[in-house]
Amino acid sequence: MAVGEFELIRRYFHYQAGAYGVALGIGDDCALLQPPANKQLAVSMDTLVGGIHFPNNADPELIAQRALRVNLSDLAAMGAEPLWFTLGLTLPNADAKWLEGFSRGLFSVANEYNCALVGGDTTRGPLCITIQVHGAVEAEEALLRGNASMGDQVYVTGCLGDAAAALAVIKGEMAVGKSAFNYFMACYYRPVPRLRESVCLRGLASSCIDVSDGLLADLGHICENSVVGAVVDLERVPLSEPVRKLVEPDKAIKWALSGGDDYQLCFTVPPERLGQLRALIDRGTLQATAIGEIVAGDKVTCVRGNRIVEMPKSGYQHFENNSD
Ligand code: ADP
Ligand code: MG
Repeated sequence: MAVGEFELIRRYFHYQAGAYGVALGIGDDCALLQPPANKQLAVSMDTLVGGIHFPNNADPELIAQRALRVNLSDLAAMGAEPLWFTLGLTLPNADAKWLEGFSRGLFSVANEYNCALVGGDTTRGPLCITIQVHGAVEAEEALLRGNASMGDQVYVTGCLGDAAAALAVIKGEMAVGKSAFNYFMACYYRPVPRLRESVCLRGLASSCIDVSDGLLADLGHICENSVVGAVVDLERVPLSEPVRKLVEPDKAIKWALSGGDDYQLCFTVPPERLGQLRALIDRGTLQATAIGEIVAGDKVTCVRGNRIVEMPKSGYQHFENNSD
């Protein structure tokens, strides 16, 4: 069943009443929004293209979840708290069943993270979803990529490599049991934006990024912006149990370093604040692992113990030939 544009917006992309700072929500030419006093707006946009970022026939509920979650991850990487988002939706056709699922997935995440839909645009064309999120952060507290210094320790939250493993499983390249399959599906389609963790890191981390393109590429961005190098000890890179069970250690490490899509936070902490960070970790408030150190230079070097290990330069880039 197909629905018209205005009916579609009214039915599936309504405004959630009671959201923070929304003077006027969906339905006029613009939304009118009142940011919290004395905070800066953190604004970020991510586009997911059908057939590139997810299979075209993927469950619409999962597509929507993923689209909003990866955007919220950028707010987390900045230390910002979610407020609002807008949705640019391009659809090949207005299928009511697809839209119902998409809407359900979208609002489940929007409600979970207190982020209100305040507008968007709807067009016909190849399936493509663009979300712009708006968050708020205290001016001095934003977690930037450019403030890492020599001697800072490098940490990551959670485990790395799960999303790359998930992609192999989803593509049918690897067979797994039901519980591992469910785990990997959740990793891929329902990545957890590390918002809770990022609140802990404000005033503590010197720099921060979310791992969307692979650890080496993203830590590389911290290095480039901060004009430093980094050393990563491969023996300390955290791998989940399902990944370790699925493949041999070399493959798991390769996924962890260059797989992308994990949406964990990679951050640096200066020596004088390590005690504070370790207290948070010991108390179980923050789950994070030390994986290396910021050094002089301009690149990320991998070591195993004292030995340098060459790793292929990686990270997904849309306008380069990527073979894997
Ligand atoms: P205009 O022609 O002025 O751009 P539209 O007809 O595109 O207005 O949109 C009407 C209203 O519906 C606007 O408030 C717009 O923000 C909202 N809107 C359109 N598409 C979406 C969508 N996919 N999700 C949320 N709001 C939407
Ligand atoms: Mg419009």
